[in-house]
Amino acid sequence: MAVKTKIQWCDSTVNPTMGCDGCEIWGSLRRSCYAGTLHTRFGGVTQGYAPTFEEVTKFPGRMAQAASYSDLTGQSRPDKPWLDGLPRTVFVSDMSDSLSLSVAFEYLHDEIVANVADGPGRRHRWLWLTKRPDRMAQFSSWLRHRGIEWPDNLWAGTSITTQATTSRIKNLLKVGTPRTTRFLSVEPQVESIDLRRWLPKLDWVIQGGESGRQARPFDMAWAVDLTGLCRAEGVSYFLKQLGSVVVRDGRRMSFEDGHAGDWSEWPEEVRVREMPVPDGARRGG
Ligand code: SF4
Repeated sequence: MAVKTKIQWCDSTVNPTMGCDGCEIWGSLRRSCYAGTLHTRFGGVTQGYAPTFEEVTKFPGRMAQAASYSDLTGQSRPDKPWLDGLPRTVFVSDMSDSLSLSVAFEYLHDEIVANVADGPGRRHRWLWLTKRPDRMAQFSSWLRHRGIEWPDNLWAGTSITTQATTSRIKNLLKVGTPRTTRFLSVEPQVESIDLRRWLPKLDWVIQGGESGRQARPFDMAWAVDLTGLCRAEGVSYFLKQLGSVVVRDGRRMSFEDGHAGDWSEWPEEVRVREMPVPDGARRGG
């Protein structure tokens, strides 16, 4: 967990679990998940990590600690101006997928929902991202059956990388209540993806290319297209980074920043970092 993070779209991170069951970017064919790579180095030797990435491990108390962080409502963030004035924005589970199969719903309630819905956690916004929205939807239904409402300040997000993985979105739409903010992280995007049928149902889209030595190319046209589609649908859009290998019209582009995450280097048409706000007003550049 970190009170301050370099991740562009949030202020802080917290991991009520560490480790993961894996996904299309971490398995026998590909090992490019950042959390998995860090666990390969530090798992079992450094405090706070799971023994191995595959051994999903609970860390109770971390959510309560993050809940106690100061309220940032009304404050400016010189390095992230798109967050200016907003409550502290906390990314839940950047080093894990806390919807991995072995994590019991009772734990997810006690650790995540209870800390978000009550006490100091109510001052913040919590952005919970998973590649298992089917299990998140089951958890949401489990809460409903117990008379527990999904907290409005707990945003539900899923992450996709390819056209095939857009099937996750239908399960994301089953999470929470009609008031729940639902977001999509298209990162790392590794092929052209058609999101037109889903955009009207989403509140926010984050897009990004792949980083690292194994990075696959990100086509600038994907960002231009998605920026335009989101604008047309009134969906907030946030371009996080272009990634390590960026092409435009078949030619490789070069950037000072290794991940092409410095938006001052981008063409103006894609320099967009918006955050959704409850009244639907648009923010950012
Ligand atoms: S689901 Fe998330 S944390 Fe798990 S391997 Fe995939 S990218 Fe990494």
